[in-house]
Amino acid sequence: MQKSAVVCLDLEGVLVPEIWINVAVKTGIDDLKITTREMPDYDKLMRQRLNILDRQALKIGDIQDVIAKMGPLEGATDFLAWLRERYQVIILSDTFYQFAQPLMRQLGFPTLFCNQLEIDRNGRIVNYHMRMQDPKKHAVAALKSLNFFTMAAGDSYNDTAMLGEADAGFFFRPPEHLPKEFPKFPVTQHYGELQERFAQVGSGLS
Ligand SMILES: [Mg+2]
Repeated sequence: MQKSAVVCLDLEGVLVPEIWINVAVKTGIDDLKITTREMPDYDKLMRQRLNILDRQALKIGDIQDVIAKMGPLEGATDFLAWLRERYQVIILSDTFYQFAQPLMRQLGFPTLFCNQLEIDRNGRIVNYHMRMQDPKKHAVAALKSLNFFTMAAGDSYNDTAMLGEADAGFFFRPPEHLPKEFPKFPVTQHYGELQERFAQVGSGLS
């Protein structure tokens, strides 16, 4: 009998644009353009982001307005539909449910494991809460313990532990320096290429 496969996908940079970069462009705050691509320490990055929002008096509603106008990346909806016909798909993201919801709606609400923002009565984002340390890696490990074959794709530092834990892990449009640091993960640049990789690995399951 064929072993069932689960595909774990990163969200930003794989299915949707980088949320913070879009917020930076719309608000004109360049410091918000920094992502996990440049700053691997996620806590340091989030503290910096929340400080900037406070300084600029930006509330959750302002950020959600920007996110609501972002669409998925071109081709992402078809890619996800293709994938969900063949495998179970779980999106593993370090973003927050409060940010992701308008985009999830456009993607047909696929399963999403991410994190929570703490927001006060006035809409100020006062804190953020990660569900756990290293959640992407643990999610893949848990799926493996349930006897699923796991495949994964991501574009950033925060995906490398997930890609390493998965039975098959692929980069999708990573920044140039990342594959040099992690040469064992094949690089894909287009959804077609990634589909081929998943199909190839998936067809070998038995
Ligand atoms: Mg990403």
